[in-house]
Amino acid sequence: MTKVMHFINGKLTANSSNRSGNVFDPALGKVVREVSLAEIADAQAAIAAAHAAFPAWSDTSLTKRQQIMFNFREILNANKQELAAIVTEEHGKTLPDALGEVTRGLEVVEFATGMANLLKGSYSESVSTSIDVYSIKQPLGVVGIISPFNFPAMVPMWFFPVAIAAGNTVVLKPSEKNPSAAIWIAEQLKAAGLPDGVFNVLQGDKVAVDALLTSADVQAISFVGSTPIAKYVYETGTAHGKRVQALGGAKNHMLVLPDADLDLVADSAINAGFGSAGERCMAISVVVAVEPIADELVTKIAARMKELKVGDGRRNCDMGPLITAEHRDKVAGYIEIAIADKATVVVDGRGISVDGDSNGFWLGPTLIDNVSTSSKVYQDEIFGPVLSVVRVSSYAAGLKIINDGVYGNGTAIFTNDGGAARRFQNEVEVGMIGINVPIPVPVSYYSFGGFKSSLFGDTKAHGLQGVHFFTREKTVTSRWLDPSHGGINLGFPQN
Ligand code: NAD
Repeated sequence: MTKVMHFINGKLTANSSNRSGNVFDPALGKVVREVSLAEIADAQAAIAAAHAAFPAWSDTSLTKRQQIMFNFREILNANKQELAAIVTEEHGKTLPDALGEVTRGLEVVEFATGMANLLKGSYSESVSTSIDVYSIKQPLGVVGIISPFNFPAMVPMWFFPVAIAAGNTVVLKPSEKNPSAAIWIAEQLKAAGLPDGVFNVLQGDKVAVDALLTSADVQAISFVGSTPIAKYVYETGTAHGKRVQALGGAKNHMLVLPDADLDLVADSAINAGFGSAGERCMAISVVVAVEPIADELVTKIAARMKELKVGDGRRNCDMGPLITAEHRDKVAGYIEIAIADKATVVVDGRGISVDGDSNGFWLGPTLIDNVSTSSKVYQDEIFGPVLSVVRVSSYAAGLKIINDGVYGNGTAIFTNDGGAARRFQNEVEVGMIGINVPIPVPVSYYSFGGFKSSLFGDTKAHGLQGVHFFTREKTVTSRWLDPSHGGINLGFPQN
């Protein structure tokens, strides 16, 4: 069985021990390769390579750094089907969805090719007599990126193009559930001309993460994953003096006002609820229906669900399997909880027929109506193809439910009333908002991130906030003496 290795200092590198994990093809339900699980020594080697590469890379001209990003953009664009196939094999999402993920990552690469403009400082002449002030943005050093299983290509690309173009060096620790996309990316970065050591991949689990969080040679951490781990990463990383942005879990609501176009709403709920089998941090998992439209809306959603084809993502299907058998069983367990909590299971995804291997980790789209906010079905991030409907009597009641939630990643409102939508964008306590758009993932030149338990730290991913995260600013106050010397003055200069 092939073993996915680390990529350190420009080379595939074997682990220092035999510790390894299984990598599944979730549509086949079988192990397709193994992945090395780093020991502390392996993490130290990756960090040392990035540390050694930093002085030369940060001194490399902006023009050259951008050229390499341009090269990588071209290679990625020409070969994106190849990367998408790797994502589908180890994640299970359909090929078009995997291609969509790669394309969204590519957009961040394109954003990073404009780094020369983004790194411009400012200059103020004669702030005091003969004194000028200006600012310069400099890279931090070695940055660690720790990514989740659900976007093995896109989430790393939210961070490393910006980090690298800004002059930092990187150690990426991908999810051990789907480690191969990171290696493909490392090889293409090398082919694009990136010097060895600037981008390293460290395969592993908590051992690798802890080594990154505690190393004195790592300056910043970008983490994406579940909320408990995000909180842990934020607290541990900051306690070790690092700059940390830790994006956590989500429970995203779609508020549907009675004047909305219910066909658009039903289509959007299907796309946002069941795309990628609900394993998206921007999936809609709760439809908050303002009466009297709930009956009609549930009927429309359920009718569309009958048309969905579940199966192997390499075939012509709408939805693939879940990531592991354990996760599939956990998600299916929420259907039992819903029944116990007296919710209405309108469509039950268990035992559906699929266009795929019978050993795959299947669970069909599931719709649960009349979900109470006191139920775990409502409260937990299920992270699977389970869509809940909560019925409310007014906009205000719906807004309160959303604002009382512990997460604040994404939300959407569906309405034809511009005033109501405007009020919602002002009043809702969520970081990313869609208006008649169900998955409002910001484009690369805006920033991605939520509120509350969906983001620990002050700074979001990519866009200007990403540039801010991966740089620190120096402010220089300068005077070049002219023949008229200013003389001694112990006060602040005032003119
Ligand atoms: P996860 O938290 O299990 O794993 C994320 C990363 O943390 C992985 O690299 C993993 O190896 C590492 N990790 C796991 N356990 C650890 C531990 N005990 N100590 C240190 N490191 C550990 O998340 P996942 O299951 O891979 O991904 C799904 C989660 O990610 C969901 O909660 C989803 O909402 C979230 N997510 C959030 C966003 C966002 O932008 N907010 C985006 C994508 C995914």
